[in-house]
Amino acid sequence: MNEYDSELVKSILVEKEHSLTKELEQADVIMLNTCAVRENAFNRIYARVGDLKYLRESKKTRVGILGCMAQNIKGDLLKNKNIDFAAGPDNYKDLPKLIAEVMSPGPGLDSITELSKHETYSDVDPQRQDGVNAWIAVMRGCDNFCTFCVVPYTRGRERSRDLDSVVQESRQAVASGKKQVTLLGQNVNSYRSGEHRFSHLMEALAHVEGLERVRFTSPHPKDFPDELLEVIAKHPNLCAQIHLPLQAGDSEVLKRMNRGYTKEEFLETAARVRRWLPDAHISTDIIVGFPGETEEQYEVTKEVMETVRFDSAFIFKYSPRERTLAKRRFPDDVEEKEKTRRIVELNELQKIHTRESLSKFRGLTLPVLIEKEKTPRSEEQCQGRIDQGVVVVMPQDGSLKAGDMVMVKIVDQTSHVLMGDVPVLAVS
Ligand code: SAH
Ligand code: SF4
Repeated sequence: MNEYDSELVKSILVEKEHSLTKELEQADVIMLNTCAVRENAFNRIYARVGDLKYLRESKKTRVGILGCMAQNIKGDLLKNKNIDFAAGPDNYKDLPKLIAEVMSPGPGLDSITELSKHETYSDVDPQRQDGVNAWIAVMRGCDNFCTFCVVPYTRGRERSRDLDSVVQESRQAVASGKKQVTLLGQNVNSYRSGEHRFSHLMEALAHVEGLERVRFTSPHPKDFPDELLEVIAKHPNLCAQIHLPLQAGDSEVLKRMNRGYTKEEFLETAARVRRWLPDAHISTDIIVGFPGETEEQYEVTKEVMETVRFDSAFIFKYSPRERTLAKRRFPDDVEEKEKTRRIVELNELQKIHTRESLSKFRGLTLPVLIEKEKTPRSEEQCQGRIDQGVVVVMPQDGSLKAGDMVMVKIVDQTSHVLMGDVPVLAVS
């Protein structure tokens, strides 16, 4: 979402005749787009602000903080003498004005107003990154208030874009050479615009001419009705890649997290996804060491992992976030050492499941959309993704271009990547 928001910010600035540069030394203003979801994101930003200090001192470069961290702790940020301004996710249209003000002499500024109930930026055409993928935010904000999560406080209430505007933006992306659209939202499958639900939006996108792949992130397990799974199963360009964030296995922990489902309901949803989409790649997010999580409750998370056998997983240690209910009500009482033990153990378990999951593809010949004409390691290799989103690295003879759809036989695997043979047939 932040990458997409940065694309919107670029567009808003260019519209006001600012020019963009990647050369720090040339910039009058440097903006860092931030995340507030977990602690280490914070630490990275403070370190980065420190790295930029020499430019503030030698060239009077102004430094601004954008995004969720700005929204969540603007007071603390503006006390930092190396930061000149801050703007939250609903204030990006104010940036040109704000920049004009900080470029004139005077104290640091704060442009953070109340979060908007309506701002969706559907009238801004993002300045897209290179590559085959176009991000499109179809909804913003979140009304779920999971007790550990800062998002409802930093990105505000849920609001969806009009279906036609999303379809139109997808058509434009295809016309400009994009092959894939990734729909974004903090809670993307709660999309709702008038009578239109997420399944209707997916159905409409399946018919966009030339759109080869549609993915979406990040969904909530409560919003996977059969109609949605049926639409994905029906259309080959809707990818069988489903993120199903578990967070914790135990129903009592889930209740305190306010996730809105029990262990049994989650297992039922996962089983339904596998029934409709037997080949789907199901990924998940897990938090270890949520306040009060006992050893027995943690063991239930392991049990759910064993039952579902997620194809991949992002596993985090709980970190208390400002303003959340968990931070206000529940002491962070699982010791750091114990959180570490749990995360290491779950990562080990997931490694086994991921290896097993990738091994299913070996020997198969699959359509791969080429994304990069060379890999960071070699010019004689290129990389792309299969429908399920897994990366494939394969030999490059110089003829394969980003955006090509090719058929590739999978011959090997590493911990997270598939290795392919020379592509055998271009399918489009
Ligand atoms: N909307 C998505 C989550 C977005 S945040 C959902 O409902 O699943 C991305 C992930 O960060 C979450 O799934 C969660 O696993 C993790 N996360 C969020 N807040 C956290 C916290 N306070 N401590 C640790 N991990 C957290
Ligand atoms: Fe945060 Fe996701 Fe819960 Fe919304 S649904 S509060 S974004 S974890």
